[in-house]
Amino acid sequence: MFRTHNCGELRLTDTDTEVTLSGWVQAGRDFGGLTFVDLRDRYGITQVVFDSDDDAALTERARKLGREWVVQVSGTVRERTNKNPNRPTGDIEILARELTVLNKSKVPPFTIEDESDGGDDLRMRYRYLDLRRGPLQRNLLFRSKLALSVRAYLSGQDFIEVETPNLIKSTPEGARDFVVPSRLNEGQFYALPQSPQTFKQLLMVAGYDRYFQIVKCFRDEDLRADRQPEFTQIDCEMAFVTQEDVLNTFEGLTRYLFREVKGIELGEFPRMPYEEAVGRYGSDKPDLRFGMELVDLNEVAQGKGFQVFDAAELVVGIRVPGKADLSRKQLDALTDWVKRPQIGAKGLVYVKCNADGSYKSSVDKFFDQEALEQWARTAGAEAGDLMLVLSGDAEKTRTQLGNLRLHVAAEYDMIPAGVFKPLWVVDFPLLEWDEDSQRFHAMHHPFTSPKREEVERMLNGDHETMKSLKADAYDLVINGAEIGGGSVRIFDRGLQEKNFQLLGFTPEEAEEQFGFLMGAFEYGAPPHAGIAFGFDRLCAVMNGQSSIRDFIAFPKNNQGRDVMIDAPARIDAEQLSELNLKLDL
Ligand code: ASP
Repeated sequence: MFRTHNCGELRLTDTDTEVTLSGWVQAGRDFGGLTFVDLRDRYGITQVVFDSDDDAALTERARKLGREWVVQVSGTVRERTNKNPNRPTGDIEILARELTVLNKSKVPPFTIEDESDGGDDLRMRYRYLDLRRGPLQRNLLFRSKLALSVRAYLSGQDFIEVETPNLIKSTPEGARDFVVPSRLNEGQFYALPQSPQTFKQLLMVAGYDRYFQIVKCFRDEDLRADRQPEFTQIDCEMAFVTQEDVLNTFEGLTRYLFREVKGIELGEFPRMPYEEAVGRYGSDKPDLRFGMELVDLNEVAQGKGFQVFDAAELVVGIRVPGKADLSRKQLDALTDWVKRPQIGAKGLVYVKCNADGSYKSSVDKFFDQEALEQWARTAGAEAGDLMLVLSGDAEKTRTQLGNLRLHVAAEYDMIPAGVFKPLWVVDFPLLEWDEDSQRFHAMHHPFTSPKREEVERMLNGDHETMKSLKADAYDLVINGAEIGGGSVRIFDRGLQEKNFQLLGFTPEEAEEQFGFLMGAFEYGAPPHAGIAFGFDRLCAVMNGQSSIRDFIAFPKNNQGRDVMIDAPARIDAEQLSELNLKLDL
């Protein structure tokens, strides 16, 4: 028997019990005749003591143990004189009688502690060692519990889990597909699913009116900090439902998960139209944990001879509470921040609302005290507050200020810890006009339905009308992170054809790529709607963390590589020729 107990479970009540533990050597300490070894497994750490008065030879062997060696220890549980209140096992230790080295270990390239000394790259290369660390273990444990709770809740609501294929034909969701060459079908390729979208809709046609799946999805995107080429969704679809039914069901799921897994009762899930979100927060995924809403200042800021403002479509500001005392240097840093190409603002105007009631701005030349007071009044700014103002093209400027709002809140610790603020963003536009390509893109995806009252306008309207169509599409946002998104779907062949036409497909292209779906719509497709949650993101957000990577056992790095197994990699000539592929490199 390798062990009678794990390294996290022994307590004072186990005193005098004979036990056997197996685990990794976390650390060893020598005190003259006594040698202490911290033995670790995924359940915890237990202190083992070797006493040379008791058994000199055994203690000598214990002194030679190295970090991360795998050992088995038998002995007696006893009360510790020097207790460690920070450890659940901290009241006891094992007085060792036997020691077996099960395996040696090289000295690990970084410390296996909660705070490791290893850099990112190194820890990714030795991910199996990184995964031994407490924070990552806790993350994976959390993930596992969350998945179980998702299954418990949804199956309790009559959802059934159905697996859909991974080798499919392209599903356009706005990203590039990963493709897989087919050996048996020369010159042809499968695509890995960006999501099971079309399959879940086909399941609705098939009558499985509540489907879910915790499923891998694949998107070949240029990688940004918080993206992974393969990621996991909680994917769902329901038939005979309205948007309202979907929102209520998944508000229910979200509440359940926070309650079950975190012991947190969530508050309201307000619903905010897309336009309102963008107007008030400069973002379609507003973080509601703090205020600093955007305030339009055109009326008070234009026509005073300041050319930059007068030429702008929009002058818009935020009130930063209590920050009138920022230094020149701090304000310059904010200006530099908005001028970075990622944000792209030309400059930043500030107004300090001084404690004595006076104002000091970066545009004092153009605006006197009275004018600045008007700004402050419009923005609700009081003595001690700071106003930050941007101007330019309306849409871009709102986005820039929305970003600055987040940056300022983070930089100056204005985001309360441990708070969760969910909301539904609803009424997204159906289509998005892209000036560069002179084409419409689907704002959500091509299977999203316009609102019922918009169908007529969509079928008969002109080009401008199309820009204003609203969809029954919705996102769940928590703390400024998009947790999920979905929509009511088109289930009528004619409307789906019209949508593809608007998106620039010829009838032949639409038929070739989606004939199977539109064909299915002709065989009794029920009204249906659905949603998908980003599972990795949900894990991170529920833990107040920003990186999804820490919740994925074996993630890719920023270049989309797995540096541990060294993938992607070349394949040999024989494999290539079997696949009828030729590479000219
Ligand atoms: N398939 C969509 C996505 O991956 C979600 C949905 O519409 O259900 O975003």
